[in-house]
Amino acid sequence: MDKQSKIYVAGHRGLVGSAIVRNLNTAGYSNIITRTSKGLDLRKQVEVEAFFEEEQPEYVFLAAAKVGGILANSTYPGQFLYDNLMIQMNVIEAARQSEVKKLLFLGSTCIYPKMAPQPLKEEYLLTGGLESTNEAYAIAKIAGIKMCNAYNKEYGTNFISVMPTNLYGPNDNFDLQSSHVLPALIRKIHEAKVNKKSTVSVWGSGRPLREFLHADDLADACVYLMKHCDAEQIGEFINIGTGKEISIEQLALLLCEAIGYEGKLVFDISKPDGTPRKLTDVSKLHNLGWKHSIKLKEGVQDAYNWYLDNAIKP
Ligand code: GDP
Repeated sequence: MDKQSKIYVAGHRGLVGSAIVRNLNTAGYSNIITRTSKGLDLRKQVEVEAFFEEEQPEYVFLAAAKVGGILANSTYPGQFLYDNLMIQMNVIEAARQSEVKKLLFLGSTCIYPKMAPQPLKEEYLLTGGLESTNEAYAIAKIAGIKMCNAYNKEYGTNFISVMPTNLYGPNDNFDLQSSHVLPALIRKIHEAKVNKKSTVSVWGSGRPLREFLHADDLADACVYLMKHCDAEQIGEFINIGTGKEISIEQLALLLCEAIGYEGKLVFDISKPDGTPRKLTDVSKLHNLGWKHSIKLKEGVQDAYNWYLDNAIKP
């Protein structure tokens, strides 16, 4: 991939896609193409094929997906399955037809079995049952990994898959019904502070452990892998994470500190905990030469600043 290569970033308005575009722009890549979902519905095969035929991108970052937190995932399994399967089927197939040089498919670590040993090694895929709250999304993403592998095998394509841990950063979703925990807690704690509320509700027991990666770190890893590592080296797929975990309670306390809130946390155990632990083994990634650089404490401050500057509507 060189600075003039034609690069299509699918999902450029989202947390991941926008971070990839920022990273590419900063590095001097000048031929990036994007489309909004209004201009191109990736669930429609005819539209996707016409787009690839017309634009002929050389590299594709497939960051378009229907995503959401624990509540959205468990409430709309049909939409999560359908939208994600359609998007990835159409983009991967059109990329093959138009002979894209390399494609990077993004999934998530929820593809792992609920009770897989920790930290999660890539080889644990499909060794056990999935976490029920995000099964539909996980099944779609597993199909995407398998599709990239099948295409590499059958057609000699160079399609790689990356599975990032829980992400956060600019352009995150702060809607309390559909967001993930980190943006949700930023909003809840900020609003509690502003409205002088003495408590904040945290879903579940606070005991589940999660790993958090800043979207700018993820984007950096994706661009690094696109430039330096082919499907053969990567194998079936690769984890992207920090290899460090924190409990939801500790995360909430860290956010209280960053936001300057002194009230109490109240745990709402009527809400699901989800999978107890989800820590990635990042040895494969480290061996390929990439390591994260944004520490959680700095990262959450950055995410809170972004929320203050961009997400609060007057
Ligand atoms: P998950 O990693 O797929 O389970 O997705 P989430 O980021 O939505 O949830 C992670 C954990 O944070 C779960 O145990 C949630 O119950 C917990 N959590 C605590 N408060 C919240 C909240 O306000 N929103 C969300 N989405 N999760 C919360």
